[in-house]
Amino acid sequence: MSLAVPADLVDPLVLANRILYDQGVVDGLGHASVRHPTEPGVFLLSCNRAPGLVRRQDITCYDFDGNTLSDQKERPYLERFIHAEIYRERPDVMAVVHSHSPSVIPFAITHNALKPVFHMSGFLGEGSAHFEIREAGGNTDMLISSSYLGAALARSLGRHSCVLMRGHGSTVVGTSLQQVVYRAIYAEVNAKLQLGAQALGEITFLNAEEAQLSSDMNDGQLPRSWSLWVRRLGEIDLDR
Ligand SMILES: [Zn+2]
Repeated sequence: MSLAVPADLVDPLVLANRILYDQGVVDGLGHASVRHPTEPGVFLLSCNRAPGLVRRQDITCYDFDGNTLSDQKERPYLERFIHAEIYRERPDVMAVVHSHSPSVIPFAITHNALKPVFHMSGFLGEGSAHFEIREAGGNTDMLISSSYLGAALARSLGRHSCVLMRGHGSTVVGTSLQQVVYRAIYAEVNAKLQLGAQALGEITFLNAEEAQLSSDMNDGQLPRSWSLWVRRLGEIDLDR
């Protein structure tokens, strides 16, 4: 069976990849995905390509077991199970970004949660979740390269919007591509600010209500940031 990739999601997903690279959230590795709009057991993700180089023809449909459903000859990402198992576990999640953005790593390796230091990161709520791969898989290469490890990660994520992965990186989830890109960018920004502020003294984080209110407010402003991020990419050819 070959499942057609929904045309209206291809360009936004290519742009999401390019924006995340342009904003320094991903490098040669990392990925963004979006759930299929009418097939809830399917998601769209690039084949094994650096995010900054993802093109329209790279976008592929996968099922929750990580199988390619589209007519795609290129190999898939090893870590597609991150996306698959989160979509399986969280019907509310419509988009996922996985990255190794550097400022988040100190929190992941010290088991400190990212917490919202300002209104832009209200989506962090009462803090990020934490994933310890050793508890699930013993000693590994740290990658989420199986359904089993993906399911363990999804359980650690729970109802949170962000899970830090010890010795590896982080994964954020959202209800749209624009929202999840925003969250990936501001998880990294928040990490930098939180690291800097804690050297100065005790941090007053947003409380749960402030976090929710500012998160709701920011969700209404997403197209404003998105249009700026797209403009920054300049004249680009999404086929090359
Ligand atoms: Zn990774």
